[in-house]
Amino acid sequence: MVETDVVVIGAGASGLMCAIEAGKRKRNVKVLELAAKPGKKILMSGGGRCNFTNYSVEPDNYISHNPHFCKSALSRFTQWDFLDWVQRYRIPYHEREFGRLFCNDSAKDILNMLLTECDSVGVDITLNTHIEVIEHRSDRQFLIKTKLQNYLCRSLVIATGGLSIPKMGATPFGYKIAEQFGIKVWPTSAGLVPFTLQPDDKQLLSELSGIALLCRVSCLEQSFTENLLFTHRGLSGPAMLQISNYWRPGQSLTIDLLPEIDLAEYLRQLKTTKSKAALKTVLAELLPKRLIACLIEEKLLNSNMADLSAAQIDAITDCISHWTIKPNATEGYRTAEVTLGGVDCNAISSKTMGCHDVPGLYFIGEVLDVTGWLGGYNFQWAWSSGWCAGQYV
Ligand code: FAD
Repeated sequence: MVETDVVVIGAGASGLMCAIEAGKRKRNVKVLELAAKPGKKILMSGGGRCNFTNYSVEPDNYISHNPHFCKSALSRFTQWDFLDWVQRYRIPYHEREFGRLFCNDSAKDILNMLLTECDSVGVDITLNTHIEVIEHRSDRQFLIKTKLQNYLCRSLVIATGGLSIPKMGATPFGYKIAEQFGIKVWPTSAGLVPFTLQPDDKQLLSELSGIALLCRVSCLEQSFTENLLFTHRGLSGPAMLQISNYWRPGQSLTIDLLPEIDLAEYLRQLKTTKSKAALKTVLAELLPKRLIACLIEEKLLNSNMADLSAAQIDAITDCISHWTIKPNATEGYRTAEVTLGGVDCNAISSKTMGCHDVPGLYFIGEVLDVTGWLGGYNFQWAWSSGWCAGQYV
C-alpha cells in the first residue's frame, strides 16, 4: 500500500498542472495514468504545435449548464499566467488569427515544461496504470486499487478528460466515478467536430472536396466567421468545428459564403455596370466555380446580369448568403477535439474544484461540464481548473 497526500488520476493537461501546484505546496503527489505516455493530447493538439491559450479569454468563450462556474478559475489563473510559464521556459510561440497562441516548434515544448515542473517538485507519475476500483473509507481516505498497487490518500483528483479520440485512450472513467459518488453527469456529446451530410447533399457536394473559404455560419443565435472546408466526408474547418459545439441533431446551419459583401446590393449594381456579363462570370470572381455550379442552376448562371429580375437576385442571394443545410450528424468522438457535457458544475466548488458533498474529491479539466471554443480555450480551462485544485488538495 502506498500512502500519499494526493492522487491525481490522468496525466493530461489539467492533471499535470494540478500535480505541479500541489507539489509546490510540498504535498506528496502521485499521478496515475492509464496510457504508456503522459500528455498525449497535448502532443497531438494544434496540429502538433499546441494552441496552448488565447490572448482573449472570456467566460463567453465557454459552454456549460452553469455558465458562471468557469469565471473564478479563469480569473485566478489567467492566460497571462500561463504565458509567463511559457516565456520563463523560453518556448518560442506565435499568435495566429483571433489571438490564438501556438508553439513555433512543437507541442513537445509545452509537455516538457510541465514534466520538468513535475520533476522539480517531486511529483511521481506512474504510467500504464489500470485502476480497478475506488473506495471512500470511513476515515474519509480514498483507497485506489490498481492491478499492481493500492494507494491511500486524502485528496483524490479526477483529471481523466473527455471521450474524444478513444484511440488515444479516452475513457468514461471520470463520469463513472462521479456517478459512484452520486454526482450528476450531464449527457455528453462530441464537440469541435466536423459534420457529415445527408445522402443527397453528400452526393451533390462530393465534387467540392478540398475547397476552403471564409464563411459566416449560424445555428440559432450563435454564429462564427471563420474558414469552411469541404471534405470528402462533409463539412469541416474552424467554422464548422466552432458551430458544432452549439448544433443539436435535426437542426440546420445557415451559411453565408460571402460574409464580407452585401451580395444582393453587389448584384444590383452589376446589373447596370456589367450588364452584358454572365452571372457565372461575375460569381466566379467571388467564389470557386465548382461551388457556384453546385448551388445555382446552370440556366440562371448563363443569364446576363441585365436580364436578372429582382426576384432572381433575391434567390441567388439566398443560395449564397443564406445557404441552409441540415447536417446528417457529426463525425462523433472519433475526430472530436472535445466533449460537451460532463460532471455537473453545481456539485463542485468553483473556487477549489472540490465536490461540495464529498470532501477530498476534486474534478478538473474537460471531465467537467465546461467546454471551450476552438482557439486555446480548452487548454486554458485545463490549466486554470488544474491550478485552482492544486492550491487546495
Ligand atoms: P486530457 O488532456 O485528455 O488528459 C486526460 C488524461 O487522463 C489522459 O492522459 C488519459 O490517458 C488519462 N486517462 C483517461 N482515463 C483514465 C483512466 N481510467 N485511468 C488513468 N488515466 C486515465 N485544446 C486547445 O485548447 N488547443 C488545442 O490546440 C487543442 N487541440 C486539440 C487537438 C485534438 C486532436 C484534440 C483531441 C483535442 C485538442 N484540444 C485542444 C482539446 C484539449 O486537448 C483538451 O481539452 C485537454 O487536453 C483537456 O485536458 P484534460 O486534462 O481535462 O484531459
